[in-house]
Amino acid sequence: MQKNQMAPWLQPLWESLDFANFPNAILLHGQSGIGKFAFSVELAKALLCENSNAAIKPCNQCEACHWFDTGNHPDFISLVPETHRKLMPHADYEADESPKRGKAARDDDGDSGEKKEKKNISIEETRHAIENLSIGSHRGGNRVILIYPLEMLRTDSANTLLKSLEEPPANTIFILLADRVDRVLPTIRSRCRLLAAPRPDRAQGLAWLKTQLNKIDDLKVNDVDVETIYDEQGGAPFSVLNSLIARRNKDEKDELTISIQASRYLLQSMAQGAVINWLDTAEKTHKAQYGFLLASMQRWISDLQSVTQGGGPRYYPKHITTLQGLSKAVNVQRMLQFWKSLVQARRHENHPLANRIQLEALLSQYQQIFGS
Ligand SMILES: [Zn+2]
Repeated sequence: MQKNQMAPWLQPLWESLDFANFPNAILLHGQSGIGKFAFSVELAKALLCENSNAAIKPCNQCEACHWFDTGNHPDFISLVPETHRKLMPHADYEADESPKRGKAARDDDGDSGEKKEKKNISIEETRHAIENLSIGSHRGGNRVILIYPLEMLRTDSANTLLKSLEEPPANTIFILLADRVDRVLPTIRSRCRLLAAPRPDRAQGLAWLKTQLNKIDDLKVNDVDVETIYDEQGGAPFSVLNSLIARRNKDEKDELTISIQASRYLLQSMAQGAVINWLDTAEKTHKAQYGFLLASMQRWISDLQSVTQGGGPRYYPKHITTLQGLSKAVNVQRMLQFWKSLVQARRHENHPLANRIQLEALLSQYQQIFGS
Protein backbone atom coordinates (compact mmCIF):
# COMPACT_ATOMS: atom_id res chain seq x y z
CA MET A 1 0.00 0.00 0.00
CA GLN A 2 1.15 3.48 -0.76
CA LYS A 3 1.80 5.62 2.24
CA ASN A 4 0.91 9.23 2.89
CA GLN A 5 -1.42 9.75 -0.02
CA MET A 6 -3.03 13.11 0.53
CA ALA A 7 -6.69 12.57 -0.09
CA PRO A 8 -7.99 15.25 -2.49
CA TRP A 9 -10.99 16.00 -0.24
CA LEU A 10 -8.58 16.89 2.58
CA GLN A 11 -6.52 19.21 0.40
CA PRO A 12 -8.58 22.36 1.25
CA LEU A 13 -8.09 21.59 4.96
CA TRP A 14 -4.35 21.31 4.36
CA GLU A 15 -4.31 24.63 2.55
CA SER A 16 -6.13 26.30 5.42
CA LEU A 17 -3.27 25.48 7.81
CA ASP A 18 -1.03 28.34 8.83
CA PHE A 19 2.41 26.78 9.17
CA ALA A 20 4.01 30.07 10.19
CA ASN A 21 1.73 30.31 13.17
CA PHE A 22 0.90 26.75 14.07
CA PRO A 23 -1.01 26.00 17.31
CA ASN A 24 0.73 23.75 19.81
CA ALA A 25 -2.11 21.24 19.78
CA ILE A 26 -4.61 20.33 17.09
CA LEU A 27 -7.40 17.83 17.32
CA LEU A 28 -8.27 16.43 13.92
CA HIS A 29 -11.58 14.65 13.99
CA GLY A 30 -13.91 13.03 11.50
CA GLN A 31 -15.36 9.73 10.37
CA SER A 32 -13.07 6.74 10.51
CA GLY A 33 -11.44 5.67 7.25
CA ILE A 34 -11.41 8.95 5.33
CA GLY A 35 -7.66 9.58 5.42
CA LYS A 36 -7.10 11.49 8.66
CA PHE A 37 -4.18 9.30 9.60
CA ALA A 38 -2.27 9.71 6.34
CA PHE A 39 -3.02 13.44 6.54
CA SER A 40 -1.54 13.64 10.03
CA VAL A 41 1.60 11.74 9.15
CA GLU A 42 2.16 14.13 6.25
CA LEU A 43 1.46 17.06 8.55
CA ALA A 44 3.99 15.81 11.10
CA LYS A 45 6.55 15.53 8.32
CA ALA A 46 5.82 19.07 7.15
CA LEU A 47 6.19 20.44 10.68
CA LEU A 48 9.56 18.73 11.03
CA CYS A 49 10.86 19.67 7.56
CA GLU A 50 13.92 21.88 7.94
CA ASN A 51 14.08 23.34 4.47
CA SER A 52 13.45 27.03 5.07
CA ASN A 53 13.48 27.78 1.33
CA ALA A 54 10.81 25.27 0.42
CA ALA A 55 7.63 26.79 -0.98
CA ILE A 56 5.73 23.64 -0.13
CA LYS A 57 6.41 21.57 2.95
CA PRO A 58 7.41 18.80 3.37
CA CYS A 59 10.15 19.36 0.80
CA ASN A 60 10.98 15.62 0.66
CA GLN A 61 14.63 16.53 0.16
CA CYS A 62 16.13 17.81 3.38
CA GLU A 63 17.76 15.63 5.99
CA ALA A 64 14.75 15.85 8.30
CA CYS A 65 12.39 14.65 5.57
CA HIS A 66 14.71 11.80 4.80
CA TRP A 67 14.91 10.80 8.46
CA PHE A 68 11.17 10.97 8.71
CA ASP A 69 10.67 8.69 5.71
CA THR A 70 13.02 6.10 7.10
CA GLY A 71 11.19 6.13 10.42
CA ASN A 72 14.19 7.52 12.26
CA HIS A 73 13.32 11.12 13.02
CA PRO A 74 14.20 11.52 16.71
CA ASP A 75 11.67 14.32 17.25
CA PHE A 76 8.70 12.45 15.90
CA ILE A 77 6.84 10.47 18.51
CA SER A 78 3.80 8.43 17.61
CA LEU A 79 1.44 6.85 20.08
CA VAL A 80 -0.67 4.53 18.00
CA PRO A 81 -1.93 1.01 18.64
CA GLU A 82 -0.34 -1.91 16.85
CA THR A 83 -3.24 -2.04 14.46
CA HIS A 84 -2.05 1.27 12.97
CA ARG A 85 1.70 0.71 13.05
CA LYS A 86 1.66 -0.58 9.51
CA LEU A 87 0.63 2.86 8.28
CA MET A 88 3.67 4.59 9.76
CA PRO A 89 6.71 5.51 7.68
CA HIS A 90 9.09 2.60 7.36
CA ALA A 91 6.71 0.31 9.15
CA ASP A 92 8.71 -2.83 8.40
CA TYR A 93 11.21 -1.95 11.05
CA GLU A 94 8.74 -0.60 13.57
CA ALA A 95 7.56 -3.95 14.79
CA ASP A 96 10.97 -5.04 16.04
CA GLU A 97 11.83 -1.78 17.66
CA SER A 98 9.04 -1.37 20.12
CA PRO A 99 10.06 -3.09 23.34
CA LYS A 100 7.42 -1.14 25.24
CA ARG A 101 4.70 -3.25 23.76
CA GLY A 102 4.20 -6.90 24.47
CA LYS A 103 4.11 -8.13 28.01
CA ALA A 104 4.81 -4.86 29.76
CA ALA A 105 2.00 -3.13 27.94
CA ARG A 106 -0.36 -5.94 28.73
CA ASP A 107 0.38 -5.88 32.44
CA ASP A 108 0.13 -2.15 32.51
CA ASP A 109 -3.24 -2.02 30.87
CA GLY A 110 -4.50 -4.83 33.04
CA ASP A 111 -6.03 -6.61 30.12
CA SER A 112 -5.31 -10.12 29.05
CA GLY A 113 -7.22 -10.03 25.75
CA GLU A 114 -4.77 -9.83 22.92
CA LYS A 115 -7.16 -7.98 20.64
CA LYS A 116 -7.69 -5.23 23.16
CA GLU A 117 -3.99 -4.87 23.73
CA LYS A 118 -3.53 -4.17 20.06
CA LYS A 119 -6.27 -1.58 19.92
CA ASN A 120 -5.26 0.33 23.03
CA ILE A 121 -2.38 2.70 23.48
CA SER A 122 -0.26 1.56 26.38
CA ILE A 123 -0.08 3.73 29.47
CA GLU A 124 3.58 3.07 29.96
CA GLU A 125 4.33 4.18 26.44
CA THR A 126 2.35 7.39 26.91
CA ARG A 127 4.01 8.23 30.18
CA HIS A 128 7.43 7.49 28.79
CA ALA A 129 6.85 9.69 25.75
CA ILE A 130 5.41 12.59 27.70
CA GLU A 131 7.94 12.52 30.52
CA ASN A 132 10.72 12.79 27.98
CA LEU A 133 9.28 16.04 26.68
CA SER A 134 11.05 18.01 29.37
CA ILE A 135 14.25 17.28 27.48
CA GLY A 136 14.78 19.61 24.51
CA SER A 137 14.22 18.38 20.98
CA HIS A 138 17.06 16.41 19.42
CA ARG A 139 17.47 18.58 16.37
CA GLY A 140 16.67 21.91 17.96
CA GLY A 141 13.53 22.41 15.88
CA ASN A 142 9.97 21.24 16.36
CA ARG A 143 9.01 18.07 18.07
CA VAL A 144 5.77 16.38 16.99
CA ILE A 145 3.64 13.93 18.91
CA LEU A 146 0.91 12.09 17.06
CA ILE A 147 -1.74 10.27 19.07
CA TYR A 148 -4.43 8.13 17.48
CA PRO A 149 -7.10 7.16 18.32
CA LEU A 150 -7.43 9.65 21.12
CA GLU A 151 -10.62 7.94 22.33
CA MET A 152 -8.54 4.86 23.11
CA LEU A 153 -6.31 6.61 25.60
CA ARG A 154 -7.10 5.28 29.04
CA THR A 155 -7.96 7.73 31.80
CA ASP A 156 -4.51 7.85 33.40
CA SER A 157 -2.85 8.39 30.03
CA ALA A 158 -5.35 11.09 29.18
CA ASN A 159 -4.54 12.86 32.44
CA THR A 160 -0.84 12.70 31.70
CA LEU A 161 -1.52 14.16 28.29
CA LEU A 162 -3.72 16.85 29.75
CA LYS A 163 -0.94 18.01 32.03
CA SER A 164 1.42 18.58 29.13
CA LEU A 165 -1.30 20.35 27.16
CA GLU A 166 -1.79 22.69 30.11
CA GLU A 167 1.91 23.50 30.25
CA PRO A 168 3.12 22.78 26.75
CA PRO A 169 6.84 22.10 26.46
CA ALA A 170 8.66 24.45 24.08
CA ASN A 171 8.50 23.73 20.34
CA THR A 172 6.28 20.74 20.88
CA ILE A 173 3.26 20.19 18.68
CA PHE A 174 0.57 17.69 19.49
CA ILE A 175 -1.40 16.18 16.62
CA LEU A 176 -4.34 14.39 18.17
CA LEU A 177 -6.77 12.33 16.13
CA ALA A 178 -10.22 11.13 16.96
CA ASP A 179 -12.96 9.37 15.03
CA ARG A 180 -15.47 10.39 17.66
CA VAL A 181 -14.78 13.84 19.04
CA ASP A 182 -17.70 13.49 21.46
CA ARG A 183 -15.74 10.75 23.24
CA VAL A 184 -12.75 12.96 23.88
CA LEU A 185 -12.44 14.51 27.33
CA PRO A 186 -13.79 18.08 27.15
CA THR A 187 -10.74 19.28 29.10
CA ILE A 188 -8.48 17.95 26.34
CA ARG A 189 -10.75 19.22 23.58
CA SER A 190 -10.76 22.74 24.96
CA ARG A 191 -6.98 22.95 24.80
CA CYS A 192 -6.74 22.08 21.12
CA ARG A 193 -7.48 23.81 17.86
CA LEU A 194 -10.29 21.66 16.42
CA LEU A 195 -10.03 20.65 12.78
CA ALA A 196 -12.94 18.81 11.19
CA ALA A 197 -11.95 16.40 8.43
CA PRO A 198 -14.70 16.16 5.80
CA ARG A 199 -15.91 12.99 4.14
CA PRO A 200 -15.67 12.94 0.32
CA ASP A 201 -18.85 12.88 -1.72
CA ARG A 202 -19.59 9.50 -3.24
CA ALA A 203 -18.33 10.20 -6.75
CA GLN A 204 -15.07 11.72 -5.54
CA GLY A 205 -14.45 8.96 -2.99
CA LEU A 206 -15.14 6.20 -5.50
CA ALA A 207 -12.95 7.79 -8.17
CA TRP A 208 -10.05 8.06 -5.73
CA LEU A 209 -10.57 4.50 -4.56
CA LYS A 210 -10.58 3.07 -8.08
CA THR A 211 -7.37 4.94 -8.89
CA GLN A 212 -5.70 3.48 -5.80
CA LEU A 213 -6.89 -0.02 -6.66
CA ASN A 214 -5.54 0.28 -10.19
CA LYS A 215 -2.10 0.90 -8.74
CA ILE A 216 -2.10 -2.45 -6.98
CA ASP A 217 -1.18 -5.18 -9.40
CA ASP A 218 -2.59 -8.30 -7.85
CA LEU A 219 -5.78 -6.77 -6.57
CA LYS A 220 -8.61 -6.95 -9.05
CA VAL A 221 -12.09 -6.15 -7.82
CA ASN A 222 -14.98 -5.43 -10.14
CA ASP A 223 -16.64 -2.03 -9.94
CA VAL A 224 -19.94 -3.35 -8.62
CA ASP A 225 -18.19 -5.00 -5.66
CA VAL A 226 -16.16 -1.87 -5.00
CA GLU A 227 -19.33 0.22 -4.91
CA THR A 228 -21.12 -2.26 -2.67
CA ILE A 229 -18.31 -2.29 -0.14
CA TYR A 230 -17.98 1.47 -0.42
CA ASP A 231 -21.61 1.98 0.52
CA GLU A 232 -21.38 -0.70 3.22
CA GLN A 233 -18.52 1.10 4.87
CA GLY A 234 -20.35 4.40 4.99
CA GLY A 235 -18.40 6.14 2.25
CA ALA A 236 -14.98 5.85 3.87
CA PRO A 237 -12.49 5.22 1.02
CA PHE A 238 -9.47 4.40 3.17
CA SER A 239 -11.46 1.79 5.08
CA VAL A 240 -12.52 0.17 1.84
CA LEU A 241 -8.99 0.15 0.50
CA ASN A 242 -7.73 -1.48 3.69
CA SER A 243 -10.54 -4.05 3.64
CA LEU A 244 -9.77 -4.99 0.07
CA ILE A 245 -6.07 -5.30 0.79
CA ALA A 246 -6.86 -7.43 3.84
CA ARG A 247 -9.18 -9.53 1.72
CA ARG A 248 -6.20 -10.45 -0.41
CA ASN A 249 -4.82 -12.24 2.60
CA LYS A 250 -6.21 -15.71 2.62
CA ASP A 251 -7.53 -15.71 6.18
CA GLU A 252 -9.73 -12.70 5.80
CA LYS A 253 -10.84 -13.40 2.29
CA ASP A 254 -13.55 -15.84 3.16
CA GLU A 255 -15.00 -13.88 6.01
CA LEU A 256 -15.29 -10.67 4.05
CA THR A 257 -16.60 -12.38 0.93
CA ILE A 258 -19.27 -14.14 2.96
CA SER A 259 -20.24 -10.88 4.62
CA ILE A 260 -20.47 -8.96 1.36
CA GLN A 261 -22.59 -11.64 -0.28
CA ALA A 262 -24.80 -11.92 2.78
CA SER A 263 -25.19 -8.19 2.99
CA ARG A 264 -26.27 -8.06 -0.64
CA TYR A 265 -28.81 -10.80 -0.06
CA LEU A 266 -30.05 -8.99 3.02
CA LEU A 267 -30.59 -5.77 1.07
CA GLN A 268 -32.46 -7.57 -1.68
CA SER A 269 -34.71 -9.07 0.94
CA MET A 270 -35.26 -5.83 2.81
CA ALA A 271 -36.13 -4.18 -0.50
CA GLN A 272 -39.20 -6.39 -0.55
CA GLY A 273 -40.66 -4.60 2.44
CA ALA A 274 -43.82 -6.16 3.81
CA VAL A 275 -43.39 -9.34 1.77
CA ILE A 276 -39.87 -10.09 3.01
CA ASN A 277 -39.28 -13.75 3.69
CA TRP A 278 -37.48 -13.20 6.97
CA LEU A 279 -36.99 -16.86 7.82
CA ASP A 280 -35.28 -17.51 4.52
CA THR A 281 -33.24 -14.31 4.82
CA ALA A 282 -31.98 -15.18 8.29
CA GLU A 283 -31.07 -18.64 7.11
CA LYS A 284 -29.14 -17.37 4.09
CA THR A 285 -27.25 -14.64 5.94
CA HIS A 286 -26.64 -15.70 9.54
CA LYS A 287 -23.15 -17.03 8.89
CA ALA A 288 -21.85 -13.59 8.03
CA GLN A 289 -20.40 -11.28 10.68
CA TYR A 290 -23.32 -10.16 12.77
CA GLY A 291 -21.98 -6.60 13.08
CA PHE A 292 -21.69 -6.33 9.30
CA LEU A 293 -25.34 -7.34 8.88
CA LEU A 294 -26.50 -4.97 11.59
CA ALA A 295 -24.60 -2.14 9.96
CA SER A 296 -26.29 -2.88 6.63
CA MET A 297 -29.69 -2.85 8.29
CA GLN A 298 -28.93 0.42 10.03
CA ARG A 299 -27.87 2.05 6.80
CA TRP A 300 -30.93 0.78 5.01
CA ILE A 301 -33.23 2.11 7.74
CA SER A 302 -31.31 5.36 7.87
CA ASP A 303 -31.92 5.78 4.13
CA LEU A 304 -35.54 4.74 4.43
CA GLN A 305 -36.02 7.27 7.21
CA SER A 306 -34.40 9.99 5.14
CA VAL A 307 -36.51 9.21 2.06
CA THR A 308 -39.68 9.06 4.18
CA GLN A 309 -38.93 12.60 5.30
CA GLY A 310 -38.47 13.73 1.72
CA GLY A 311 -34.67 13.58 1.73
CA GLY A 312 -32.29 11.47 -0.35
CA PRO A 313 -30.55 8.18 0.49
CA ARG A 314 -27.00 8.56 1.79
CA TYR A 315 -25.83 4.95 1.63
CA TYR A 316 -27.82 3.30 -1.12
CA PRO A 317 -28.48 5.97 -3.72
CA LYS A 318 -28.97 3.30 -6.38
CA HIS A 319 -32.00 2.02 -4.52
CA ILE A 320 -33.81 5.33 -4.45
CA THR A 321 -36.84 4.07 -6.39
CA THR A 322 -37.25 1.06 -4.10
CA LEU A 323 -36.82 3.23 -1.02
CA GLN A 324 -39.40 5.70 -2.29
CA GLY A 325 -41.84 2.88 -2.93
CA LEU A 326 -41.30 1.44 0.55
CA SER A 327 -41.52 4.82 2.24
CA LYS A 328 -45.17 5.12 1.20
CA ALA A 329 -46.07 2.09 3.28
CA VAL A 330 -43.92 2.88 6.31
CA ASN A 331 -45.34 3.21 9.78
CA VAL A 332 -42.99 5.84 11.16
CA GLN A 333 -43.53 4.93 14.80
CA ARG A 334 -42.63 1.30 14.19
CA MET A 335 -39.66 2.26 12.04
CA LEU A 336 -38.25 4.30 14.94
CA GLN A 337 -38.88 1.38 17.26
CA PHE A 338 -37.02 -0.91 14.87
CA TRP A 339 -34.15 1.58 14.71
CA LYS A 340 -33.88 1.42 18.50
CA SER A 341 -33.79 -2.38 18.34
CA LEU A 342 -30.90 -2.18 15.88
CA VAL A 343 -28.98 0.23 18.09
CA GLN A 344 -29.60 -2.08 21.02
CA ALA A 345 -28.40 -5.09 19.00
CA ARG A 346 -25.21 -3.30 17.97
CA ARG A 347 -24.25 -2.84 21.59
CA HIS A 348 -24.09 -6.60 21.93
CA GLU A 349 -22.84 -7.46 18.47
CA ASN A 350 -19.60 -8.87 19.83
CA HIS A 351 -21.44 -11.40 21.93
CA PRO A 352 -23.65 -13.09 19.41
CA LEU A 353 -25.17 -15.93 21.35
CA ALA A 354 -27.62 -16.98 18.71
CA ASN A 355 -27.19 -14.92 15.57
CA ARG A 356 -29.81 -16.70 13.62
CA ILE A 357 -32.54 -16.31 16.20
CA GLN A 358 -31.66 -12.67 16.75
CA LEU A 359 -31.67 -12.04 13.03
CA GLU A 360 -35.02 -13.71 12.66
CA ALA A 361 -36.43 -11.52 15.41
CA LEU A 362 -35.06 -8.36 13.84
CA LEU A 363 -36.15 -9.18 10.30
CA SER A 364 -39.59 -10.13 11.50
CA GLN A 365 -39.77 -6.78 13.28
CA TYR A 366 -38.66 -5.13 10.03
CA GLN A 367 -41.58 -6.67 8.23
CA GLN A 368 -43.92 -5.11 10.77
CA ILE A 369 -42.85 -1.56 10.01
CA PHE A 370 -44.85 -1.66 6.79
CA GLY A 371 -48.61 -1.38 6.66
CA SER A 372 -51.02 -0.11 9.24
ZN1 LIG B 1 12.18 18.76 4.16
